[in-house]
Formats: sequence, structure tokens, C-alpha cells
Amino acid sequence: MRIHAVQSGLVSVKTCQCYSKGHGAMRLVNTILDRNWTDPLPIYSWAIEHPEGIILIDTGETARTLEPGYFPWWHPYFQLSIKPCLQPEDEVNFRLRALGIEPNDVRWVILTHLHTDHIGGLHHFPNAEIIISRREYEQIGGWRGQLNGYLTHRWPKWLAPRLIEYEAKPIGPFSESFTLTKAGDVSLIPTQGHTEGHLSVLVQTDGVSLFFAGDASYSEQLMLEQIVDGVAQDEDKSRQTLKRILQYVQEFPTVYLPSHDPNAAQRLAKQTIVSV
Ligand SMILES: [Zn+2]
Repeated sequence: MRIHAVQSGLVSVKTCQCYSKGHGAMRLVNTILDRNWTDPLPIYSWAIEHPEGIILIDTGETARTLEPGYFPWWHPYFQLSIKPCLQPEDEVNFRLRALGIEPNDVRWVILTHLHTDHIGGLHHFPNAEIIISRREYEQIGGWRGQLNGYLTHRWPKWLAPRLIEYEAKPIGPFSESFTLTKAGDVSLIPTQGHTEGHLSVLVQTDGVSLFFAGDASYSEQLMLEQIVDGVAQDEDKSRQTLKRILQYVQEFPTVYLPSHDPNAAQRLAKQTIVSV
């Protein structure tokens, strides 16, 4: 099974979005008011050439975010706290073709959650089955959905996702999971907190777990330090999730792969196991 890191540009966020300050709503306030920016962080999707079909985990960002007015003018987070940096040729369709993968050949697109830098490239995959957790999809509506960063008006009109619910199939400390492949080697697990329905993808290969963590933590280090991010919708659930991930990596040899970790692609290439 060949597995690729697919980078669609970079994004800078406030330092407090990674190393949060305060609790509850103050985490977000402190993030927005923070004057310090992170170095540009990669935006990764992951392409898996699985015998049952090509799987893409997340779709990265769209270069349209650089157009004036792309983000809602009234939204303090989008206006003050995020600086995407990418060109049209950085979008996931170009990046996949450079790897010899035609976007139309992707069978499944799994979205860890529905933030703009994960769903931004979705319009390139009208032929794929789009997989989202039901819990995540239930959060997108109305004013609250917009406030929580779901830019539904930017999503492709054809989007009719397959909404998954977990089964009582425990994997390590995770009490539920959903098995995607017939071979049973690709599973989805609930890792809520960053968003209400956030999921991660576990791929079992050669005795090693590849843990595609989305934004469950922004980096391996932040997971090891058990630090909830500055925009997580649910602080307690995020903390629980980080604890479960840590238990998992203590129990099983795991390559841990968050979407914005500058070292994630290298860890995938070298199959670097988390050391705890
Ligand atoms: Zn996110």
C-alpha cells in the first residue's frame, strides 16, 4: 500500500491557537487577540493507494481563500486569526496528479472534520464517495454553524455525503469505530473535541498503526503534552480525546500524523514510531 502526504500550501495561525491560553470561551478570545503568529504550517491531506480503491483523507485548502471576500467579513476568527498561503497549483488536484493519481480515480474522500482547510479542495472530487461523521454533519446548520467555522455556502452543491455512525467495535482505548474497508485495515474512530464530530483514520499496515489525526492535535508534541488547542469547540472532549490517543500510542506502535505538523510527512516516509 503506497501512502502519500499531499500538501496544499501553508497556513499561519496565532500562537495561542496551538498553545492555548485560558479555559472555556477565553481560549478563543485569547487566540483572536494574540499578536504572535506561528511559522507557516503545512496543510496536509493523505492519499492511500489501497487495493480496494484510492482513499483521500481530507482535501486541503482552496487558493480562493486569498480572494477578497472569500471569508465572511463579520467573522473575527477568519478576519483576524488565519493567513492561508497557497497558489492554485498547490490545490490537492494538482498535487495528486503530480503523484500519478487522477482525482476522478479517488474512491473515498474521508473528511476528518469540516473546517475550511480540510474541505476546501472537495470540489475536485465529484465522483468520490464523501465520508463524514453524522455528528459532524449535524453541526453545520444555522448561525451557530457559521460561527463555528462551517462555510457551507462555499461547499460544492453536489455534496451528498455518506454519514457514518460508529459501531461498538473497540480499538484500544476507543470504545467505538467504523471499519471502512473489506480487508478491515482502515477504520474511523471518534476523536471529538476540536469539533463535535471530528474523526481520525487508523490504517493498520505491517504491524504498525498509521494514525491520521486531522486536527485532534496540531502536532505530535502537542498531543504528547496533552494541550487542548485554542479553538477546540469542546475543551473537555478534546482533553479526553488527547488522553485516549496517548493511551493508544503507548499500547500500539504508531506513526502519528496530524494535518498541520511540520514533521508529519517525514515521519510517514520514515515510519517513525511515536516514542513515549
Ligand atoms: Zn480544524
